[in-house]
Amino acid sequence: MILLDRDGVINLDSPDYIKHPDEWHPIEHALDAVALLQQHYLVAVCTNQSGVGRGLFDDSRLADIHAKMNAALQAAGGRSLPVFYCPHHPHDQCDCRKPKPGLLLTAMQSADCSPGQCVYVGDSEKDLLAAQQAGCEAVLVLTGNGPAARETPAGRAATCYGNLADFAEALIRAGA
Ligand SMILES: [Mg+2]
Ligand SMILES: [Zn+2]
Repeated sequence: MILLDRDGVINLDSPDYIKHPDEWHPIEHALDAVALLQQHYLVAVCTNQSGVGRGLFDDSRLADIHAKMNAALQAAGGRSLPVFYCPHHPHDQCDCRKPKPGLLLTAMQSADCSPGQCVYVGDSEKDLLAAQQAGCEAVLVLTGNGPAARETPAGRAATCYGNLADFAEALIRAGA
């Protein structure tokens, strides 16, 4: 199973949060990469969306954003992605906000997948830490916050690719 962070991996990140479908823009080649991964693996998204807990947008608006993402993915030849998200504010001390592993564990349980069979791809240090805690392989991509995350201890230890398309091609080449 391949689990993906969303912002900075699939779509361009924004310091002002992605609050509306109009603000959601895919990273070049990322949707083709997801569609390619889906030909070989179960793929799902695990994403912190504290904008909900901060009152910037609600769950229904977030569902609209994911409907846009999934429509664009289907246009690229893929299938709708299951999305597991943490809606909480950092102050809420929930178990699902990365770097905690809760979201990843829930996603793996939903697919009856063990951590040893799972890779998590992210662009931030907290993604890599969540993957480590969940027991999955951590992969860093250098889109989004990736260049800064590369300089952290977890970033230096992680397998690293330029972007999601490079990861997908390398994984499928290795598995073929
Ligand atoms: Mg990210
Ligand atoms: Zn949470």
